[in-house]
Amino acid sequence: MIKYDVVIAGSGIAGASVAYFLSRKGFKVLFTDVKPFERAGDKPCGDAMGKHHFDELGIEYPKGEELEGLVKAIDIYSPSEEIRYRVTGEGFEVNRVEFTKRFIRLAQNKGAEYLPEVQVRKLLFKNGRVIGASLWSRSRGEWEVEADLVIDATGMSRALLRQLPKDWPIRDDLRPQDMNIAYREIRKLKEPVEEPEILRIYVSQEKAPGGYWWFFPYSFKDGVVNVGLGVQGGMGHPFPKDLLYTKVLNSPIFEGSEIIEAGGAAVPTRRPINTLVWEGIAAVGDAAYTVNPIHGGGKGSAMLSSWCMAEAVEEAANSGGLTTEALWGANKCFIDRYGAKQAALDIFRVFLQRLSDKDLDDGMRRKLIKEEDLNTVSLHGDLELSTVEKAMRLLSGLRRPTLLFKLKTVADYMGKIKEHYRKFPEDPSGLNSWLTDLQRIYDDFLKKL
Ligand SMILES: Cc1cc2nc3c(=O)[nH]c(=O)nc-3n(C[C@H](O)[C@H](O)[C@H](O)COP(=O)(O)OP(=O)(O)OC[C@H]3O[C@@H](n4cnc5c(N)ncnc54)[C@H](O)[C@@H]3O)c2cc1C
Repeated sequence: MIKYDVVIAGSGIAGASVAYFLSRKGFKVLFTDVKPFERAGDKPCGDAMGKHHFDELGIEYPKGEELEGLVKAIDIYSPSEEIRYRVTGEGFEVNRVEFTKRFIRLAQNKGAEYLPEVQVRKLLFKNGRVIGASLWSRSRGEWEVEADLVIDATGMSRALLRQLPKDWPIRDDLRPQDMNIAYREIRKLKEPVEEPEILRIYVSQEKAPGGYWWFFPYSFKDGVVNVGLGVQGGMGHPFPKDLLYTKVLNSPIFEGSEIIEAGGAAVPTRRPINTLVWEGIAAVGDAAYTVNPIHGGGKGSAMLSSWCMAEAVEEAANSGGLTTEALWGANKCFIDRYGAKQAALDIFRVFLQRLSDKDLDDGMRRKLIKEEDLNTVSLHGDLELSTVEKAMRLLSGLRRPTLLFKLKTVADYMGKIKEHYRKFPEDPSGLNSWLTDLQRIYDDFLKKL
C-alpha cells in the first residue's frame, strides 16, 4: 500500500489550496476529486471574493481567464427596496473553475499527486485512529492508500466525516436550519448593466425567507450577471428556484435574457466546526463550515482554513508526528484569524433570520445600524455598544412590539461568543467542557431572543 503524508478528498478551492500549501512545504500529498479537471471547483456560486482574502494569505490576485469582473462596492437593499446601504470594498468576480485550476497546477508543480475522477470512498481505521482511505475510479476499481493525515475537503457532502463515530467531535453534523439552500443562474441580459462594478443584495423575507437574493454583474462581460436566491434550510420554505422565477426573474430587466449556466447548491451558515482535527482526520472549507454565516461567502475563508491546516501540519511534523495534540494549532490559527468573528456573526444571523420585512425596513430607514457599522460588524464581528445605544434612542418612538429592541441582547451575545472563542482550549482534553459552555451561551441567547 502506498503511504502519503497527507491524502486529501475533494479538489474544490479548499482541497486544491491545502494541497498547494502542503506540497510547497515539501509534504508528500495525494489529492483527488470525483470530477474531471475541466470541472474543478465548479460548485454553483455567486463568484464574489473580497480582495482582502488575497492580501491576508499573500496570494496573487486573479487575472486573465480567472477574472470575470471587478467589484468596488455592495449595495444592500431593504425589503421595500426604498432604502439602500452602500458598503464599499474592493473585490473580484472570479471564474471559479479557472481559479481552482490555478491551485491544482501549483500543487502539481510542487510535486503533489492529483487524481481527477477518483472518489475517496471508505476511511481505514486502526486503534481508534484514521490511517488511510480506499479510493475508487471507473478505470482502476478500488484500492487503498495509507496516510498520516486524511483531509476531508468534500464540501457540503462531508463524505468522510459522515463515516466517523458520532461521538468524535469533528463529526459535528449540520442541522438543516444552519444551512442555506440556493439556486443561481448566469444570464446575458439584453442591455448592459449600469454600474457593473457594484454587486446588489436584496434582503426580503417574502422573496428569500431567511436569506437574500443577489444580482452580481460580471463587469468584464457586458450584460452578464450572476443572479440567485437563497433560503434558510429546514424551515419548509419553497424551493429557491421557484422563488427566483416567481419573485425575481419576472422583472422587466430579465426580459429576453439568455441563460448561460444554471444550478443549485447548499452552503453552511453557522459557527465553525467543533475542531478541525481529530485522530488522523482533518477538515477544511465547507466540510468544516468555514463560510460567513451572514452573506454565505466561503472561498476566502476556505483558503484560510487550508493555510492554517498546512501551518499546523508543518509544526506537528517538526515536533514528532501528526497527532491530534500536535495539530491542535490549526484550530487556534483559524479561530484567531476568523472563527471567533464567524461565531459572532452566527449570533447576528440567527437574529436577522427572525426579523420581519417591516422590522428590516424600519431598521434600515431609521439607520439603526449604519453603513460604517455594518463594515465593523463584517470586518470584526463586533456590534459596538455606542451603536446599539444610538439605535435604542432611534427606536424610542416606535411603539409596536418588535424584535429590534433585542439589538442590545444580540450585541451582548456576539461579544460573549467571541470572548468564549478566545478561551478555546489549549489542547484536546479541554474540548468537551468548552463545547458544553458554548452550547449554554447559545441556549441562553435563544431564550432571551
Ligand atoms: C449558490 C451559492 C453562492 C455562493 N456564492 C459565493 C460567493 O459569491 N463567494 C464566495 O466566496 N462563496 C460563495 N459560496 C460559497 C462557496 O461556493 C463555497 O464556500 C466554496 O465553494 C467551498 O469550497 P470547498 O472546496 O470547501 O467545497 P466544494 O467547492 O463543494 O468542493 C468539494 C469537492 O469535493 C469533491 N468530492 C465530493 N465527494 C468526494 C469524494 N468522496 N471523493 C473525492 N472528491 C469528492 C466534489 O466533487 C467537489 O469538487 C456560494 C455557495 C453557493 C451554494
